[in-house]
Amino acid sequence: MSVADYIVVGAGSGGCAVAYRLAEAGHSVIVVEAGGTDAGPFIQMPGALSYPMNMRRYDWGFSTEPEPHLGGRVLACPRGRVIGGSSSINGMVYVRGHARDYDHWADQGADGWRFADVLPYFQRMENWHGPATSEWRGTDGPLHVTRGAQDNPLFRAFVAAGAQAGYPVTEDYNGAAQEGFGVMEATIWRGQRWSAARAYLRPAQATGRVRVVRGEVARVRFDAENRATGVELLGGGALDARAEVILAASSINTPKLLMLSGIGSGAHLAEHGIALRADRPGVGQNLQDHLELYLQYAARQPVTLYKYWNLPGKAWVGAQWLFARRGPGASNQFEACAFIRSRAGIDYPDIQYHFLPIAVRYDGQAVAEGHGFQTHVGPMRSKSRGWVRLRSDRPEDAPRICFNYMSHPDDWAEFRTCIRLTREIMGQAAFEPYLDHEIQPGAGCESDDALDGFIRAHVESAYHPCGTARMGRADDPMAVVDPQGRVIGAQGLRVADSSIFPRITNGNLNAPSIMAGEKIADHVLGRSLPAANLEPVIAPDWAEAQR
Ligand SMILES: Cc1cc2nc3c(=O)[nH]c(=O)nc-3n(C[C@H](O)[C@H](O)[C@H](O)COP(=O)(O)OP(=O)(O)OC[C@H]3O[C@@H](n4cnc5c(N)ncnc54)[C@H](O)[C@@H]3O)c2cc1C
Repeated sequence: MSVADYIVVGAGSGGCAVAYRLAEAGHSVIVVEAGGTDAGPFIQMPGALSYPMNMRRYDWGFSTEPEPHLGGRVLACPRGRVIGGSSSINGMVYVRGHARDYDHWADQGADGWRFADVLPYFQRMENWHGPATSEWRGTDGPLHVTRGAQDNPLFRAFVAAGAQAGYPVTEDYNGAAQEGFGVMEATIWRGQRWSAARAYLRPAQATGRVRVVRGEVARVRFDAENRATGVELLGGGALDARAEVILAASSINTPKLLMLSGIGSGAHLAEHGIALRADRPGVGQNLQDHLELYLQYAARQPVTLYKYWNLPGKAWVGAQWLFARRGPGASNQFEACAFIRSRAGIDYPDIQYHFLPIAVRYDGQAVAEGHGFQTHVGPMRSKSRGWVRLRSDRPEDAPRICFNYMSHPDDWAEFRTCIRLTREIMGQAAFEPYLDHEIQPGAGCESDDALDGFIRAHVESAYHPCGTARMGRADDPMAVVDPQGRVIGAQGLRVADSSIFPRITNGNLNAPSIMAGEKIADHVLGRSLPAANLEPVIAPDWAEAQR
């Protein structure tokens, strides 16, 4: 079978959700995925999360151009290349984003994507196992969402320190109130990673209507009327779609595929000798990400995960997980978090914290000597924008990626604020028994200049690229897809992944990417869920007070 009603390109967060809903509605679907199996402990064991993002077997291995505002640093831009896509290599943190994010999307032309419109999709996808928080959550969807065991005292210390510093404590940041300190949620179920593949693709395959084909799509094929009829595979071969082709190859490869298929900036495609099908200058533009710093502290007590950072320790953690799906390996170890506002006059949080009970780089490449812990902190709504462009007309070549990180002057002020607010939080009594001294930035790094030097050298991607095929109204020249995910200027072609976000959301992007897949599937099927009628909590004194 090389023909189906729908061809979905990419078995990642958005793609798996689309495939599942189309199959559930009775359609045949071929999902084409460049990567291979997601079996094995590196992916399935939550505690091993820093491994797959460094393994070429599971990751596309992209990196940025020398970033002009970071002294020419080249940053890794990991993207899953495996069944489950980035949801198989990510940190499993579960954040819907703030209600206001989606209202802003709609204000930018994504009609029908207000919070009231998207909340029913978040509810439909969730299987929430936390405390009952009323009508805000979903409890019978395919995506299991849980809280960790909270058995490290440092998680409680972090939330208590936030309260002592005068911030609210939120019962459920995915419920009515995002703002505050609280317990973090994860797509982990029974000690295992609950990726989009586990949640959606396997059940979709079980219907008998979804077939997964391993292959890398080179470009989309069209008929004379500009209607997408299928895809061409790298190395030969093709797959045909009776109804539509749906791109879910993520924010780096979706714009690349559009451009290789003749949809993009006419001038840029001409540089590479690609025949123009639709002149859409927005393709590959509007690239956004979250940056973060790891602020590290030496611990006074041996309560951190450093005790396992040796061969016998790792073997013990691995064995506990292998035989019982328990122990530190069964958690992503991001079990406490916060969303706060950087200053008075901001109506909803613009800073996110992840707390980790070990001092280590996210990618596991360097650990601080001895017991330590860290906060990951970063601003959520940078005004910097970057791009994805073709390197050549060869599908085999990785695209060129430049985020223009820290290109907006506000970025610097926001990061300095992040460091200063964090120091105040970590200086609270709750950390007195645990915190010995700051490892980095370190004592003496106080002035704006010193902080800027630290930021330039140490800021890291939180791995949330998005926005490169953004939604907007059909008359918006920089929009790439309309609010139903249809590529403007072509027929029978949609996008259903994190590329369509007009603006990055407040938090990690797996949940919004899955939501996008869920909602685009409904647009394909010509149906929609009734809008919700719930109002998020906004701090009443936001105009005058930072907390
Ligand atoms: C290391 C890391 C940590 C992260 N941590 C978190 C976290 O803790 N929580 C969170 O919410 N988010 C996190 N994210 C972000 C989140 O996982 C992604 O934003 C989200 O999964 C993106 O979904 P997507 O559908 O856009 O793309 P993806 O899930 O990346 O799916 C795209 C799929 O398309 C396939 N593909 C691409 N090109 C082709 C082609 N030409 N032919 C065939 N197949 C192709 C890819 O192989 C991939 O499987 C993290 C991401 C990374 C990389």
